[in-house]
Amino acid sequence: MAEKSFDVIVIGAGPGGYVCAIRAAQLGLSVACVEMRETLGGTCLNVGCIPSKALLQSSEKFAEAGHALADHGVRVDGVSLDLARMQARKGEVVKANVDGVAFLFRKNKVTWLKGKGRIAAPGRVEVAGETYAAKHIVIATGSESVPLPGVEIDERTVVTSTGGLALDRVPGHLVVIGGGYIGLELGSVWRRLGAKVTVVEFLDRIVPTMDGEVAKQFQRILAKQGLVFRLGTKVTGARKGDEGVTLTVESAKGGKAEEIVADVVLVAIGRRAYTEGLGLAEVGVQLDERGRVKTTNGFATSVPGIWAIGDVIAGPMLAHKAEDEGVALAETLAGQHPHVNYEAIPGVVYTWPEVASVGATEEELKSRGVAYKAGRFPFSANGRARAMGETDGFVKILADAATDRLLGAHILGPDAGTLIAELALAIEFGASSEDVARTSHAHPSLNEAVKEAALAAHGKPLHL
Ligand SMILES: Cc1cc2nc3c(=O)[nH]c(=O)nc-3n(C[C@H](O)[C@H](O)[C@H](O)COP(=O)(O)OP(=O)(O)OC[C@H]3O[C@@H](n4cnc5c(N)ncnc54)[C@H](O)[C@@H]3O)c2cc1C
Repeated sequence: MAEKSFDVIVIGAGPGGYVCAIRAAQLGLSVACVEMRETLGGTCLNVGCIPSKALLQSSEKFAEAGHALADHGVRVDGVSLDLARMQARKGEVVKANVDGVAFLFRKNKVTWLKGKGRIAAPGRVEVAGETYAAKHIVIATGSESVPLPGVEIDERTVVTSTGGLALDRVPGHLVVIGGGYIGLELGSVWRRLGAKVTVVEFLDRIVPTMDGEVAKQFQRILAKQGLVFRLGTKVTGARKGDEGVTLTVESAKGGKAEEIVADVVLVAIGRRAYTEGLGLAEVGVQLDERGRVKTTNGFATSVPGIWAIGDVIAGPMLAHKAEDEGVALAETLAGQHPHVNYEAIPGVVYTWPEVASVGATEEELKSRGVAYKAGRFPFSANGRARAMGETDGFVKILADAATDRLLGAHILGPDAGTLIAELALAIEFGASSEDVARTSHAHPSLNEAVKEAALAAHGKPLHL
């Protein structure tokens, strides 16, 4: 029998791969998508963005009922946790999302090839013993957790984020190794549900890619919520016993070893590109020094007809970055000329308060020698934030000193992840801080803090 043939075969159905497949089909190409998981949606929908946000939302409600509502004059007595229900709800949220992708595949006539895909040769993909032909092959195989030498993962007492999202008991003491956004989000979940949480971070700061001023204030707020930080500290080993896990730690600069006993250890030191079993070396697809698929601008790999997008290539490991690349590549394959603007990709930490940023940080501008001006506005001076009782944090806007063009924006505060969208759009449109400041912002809204920070950048804020 002749092998089945497609215009495009995408390997991996995460936000990069499934979005690429749908857009390519919408543009009239015949498309198959290979996925080895039982469900579509990749890391993001199954064990990443979506389940973590479900648990963040639920744990926030629990914490609110226990502590914050009394301040609003709402008395709630006898608050108790039903963790099994919380986890079941998370499962329902995930299911609705992954089923949604399966529906979109059917609607757009994308064929799901179930199983692990291997590139047998340029233009040939093997799945579950069958070979399929394709004019274009897209590698969208995503990423996996980076392991820590000497700390063996069992997904029960020593977990990655996957196990950390599925605990069936609140640990007495959770030690999070890694002060990046995944560790802090999951640390917040379990802290709110009652765990003692210690974050051990090798560097002397948390969220290393974010603006330093934001990171410092963020850490202070999380510390007030009860997270304990051990910065500049490295984990050298882990020993499992009846009492839990004993971690050996020492100062990152060296020195005396010390032990920390935990009920559960979450290893969240980063993620790395996943290319196992794809057969890349055999077909000549080159990787970079960090094991990511090397691409030139436009997502072409070193082999003609093989392309790559998402976490498996360079750039921030974020779902919307993967999606934007998926759309751009599909449009390229359909003969269009799209463009992804990497200067305008927001990043959000979904703790409470949230942290969000887009564009350059002050540290980056300084190291590039760019002359800039900064405008800040605290939520404590915003009427809506006061009404909400959420006055922690601030908005910071960075603009070119000479042209006033927006270069970066950083928000620590309530709904920062939503507020940042306005500034991503402004950067995308090449706006100045004056453009943002002169735009009418509804009153009373949190967005007025954005306007005031823009006013501060190009002149003077009104309400400070
Ligand atoms: C706990 C956690 C929380 C996160 N929260 C956020 C967030 O809030 N916002 C955000 O933007 N990002 C978040 N991320 C990151 C986000 O999940 C990733 O950036 C995103 O999933 C990358 O998409 P992708 O399509 O490149 O890869 P993935 O989503 O990793 O998908 C790749 C898919 O390819 C499949 N695959 C791999 N190899 C093969 C093969 N050979 N054959 C068949 N199938 C294969 C895998 O099974 C997987 O389903 C989070 C990640 C984690 C772990």
